[in-house]
Amino acid sequence: MKIADKETKAVDLVRRALERAKASDDYHVFISLNEANALERAKNIDAKIERGEKVGKLAGVPFALKDNYLSPEGNTTAAAKMLEDFQAPVTATAVAKLEAEGAIMIGRTNLDAYAHGGSTENSYFGPTSNAFDKTRVAGGSSGGSAVAVALDIVPFALGSDTGGSIRQPASYNGVVGVKPTYGAVSRYGVVAMASSTDTMGCFAKNAEDANLVMSIIAGQDVKDSTTLKDYWTRDLEDARPKRKTIGLIKDTLGKGIDPEVSKVVRDYADKLKKSGYEVKEIEMPILKYALAIYYIVVPAEVASNLNRYDGIRYGHRSSEANDLDEIYQKTRNEGFMPENKRRIMIGNFVLSSGFYDAYYLKAQKARTLLIQAYNKAFEEFDALLCPVAPRPAFKIGENTDDPLQMYMEDILTVPPSLAGLPAMSIPAGKSKTGLPINIQLVGPRQSDQMLLNIAAELENR
Ligand code: GLN
Repeated sequence: MKIADKETKAVDLVRRALERAKASDDYHVFISLNEANALERAKNIDAKIERGEKVGKLAGVPFALKDNYLSPEGNTTAAAKMLEDFQAPVTATAVAKLEAEGAIMIGRTNLDAYAHGGSTENSYFGPTSNAFDKTRVAGGSSGGSAVAVALDIVPFALGSDTGGSIRQPASYNGVVGVKPTYGAVSRYGVVAMASSTDTMGCFAKNAEDANLVMSIIAGQDVKDSTTLKDYWTRDLEDARPKRKTIGLIKDTLGKGIDPEVSKVVRDYADKLKKSGYEVKEIEMPILKYALAIYYIVVPAEVASNLNRYDGIRYGHRSSEANDLDEIYQKTRNEGFMPENKRRIMIGNFVLSSGFYDAYYLKAQKARTLLIQAYNKAFEEFDALLCPVAPRPAFKIGENTDDPLQMYMEDILTVPPSLAGLPAMSIPAGKSKTGLPINIQLVGPRQSDQMLLNIAAELENR
């Protein structure tokens, strides 16, 4: 990616990004642009360079921000009516860190409202189109950020991944998507979805760029007690896998997976072999329970996190309400999208007395078994290889009336999320019709850089 210096002006980098953003208006990538502010920041950076002052590692680099990251510039909407007019009083840690290194936010990208979804069709502001086919979905929930990078509007964009929201849109649009180890990046200042699986990551054009961005946003933060001690500190070439052993997860290549997707994954396995890796098939039958676990645990956390939208403290308040109960009911009815409501209902159901043991507790126990299965696999393998999504991007509208089918699309991305593992979505091929297909590399906790090292090595072949 281009960084501003004496020859390359930050103002030009930012202007170009803004022009491209406007030229791609019909994809509906952005909820809002940050034009005046971005140009102002760029001018300041150019002036600093002019004066010979020190500038950051990402001086003048424009980036796009998923609209669930808080910052006072513009409204943070989470693509929901509830927050349509919400101006954040604080800046998310990840954003503050990028800005401290000179990166410049040029706009806020579209998502499924509150990040609930996998297509960006659940946005209150309407869907985002796929970068390769406007009639298809961008993927989601970080659809806008993925398309912003795929269309070359910006060299990187931030997203959040709770159960696939970076990896799946990265795959649908053929860019690198990083879902880090749980706790690698502070969640402070990001609209919460499910606190035990929410992770903050990025989209980029290649593994090296992604590593640079992640090395800046990662790290311990006193404002998020689940953050890990800084470990994203090496140069990428120093993060080589020790054993060079990869497990190809057999259970993820069979029934229900598009043969074109399986082929891309098997081809990637062959490339790994040619690069000196030992690739062996592994069976992980527990994976078939991951989706059921996820759609119990995550709605439970969603229901709790969305309790705060009561129409009193901030965000939308219904103008139709006549008493306190009506304020709650009407505000929430108007402010949330149908998918948000569905999850609140499932979440409150699985947490209710009488059902808690049968659903929530059982799911958490099964989650522990899933974590143990991964731990066992990593005794033998540096990393696991599997698809990101069962098929390439589907048509806009195809799944909107069928929430269960929508949930099925998440079957391959939710397992690492439940286990808190790093998982990379890496461009690897295309379907016959020209739609991108990524592969997924999953590793032990804190092996994020090792996974990117593997991807970088294969990119360079
Ligand atoms: N598609 C998944 C879901 O709907 C993942 C969403 C996410 O990672 N934010 O829950």
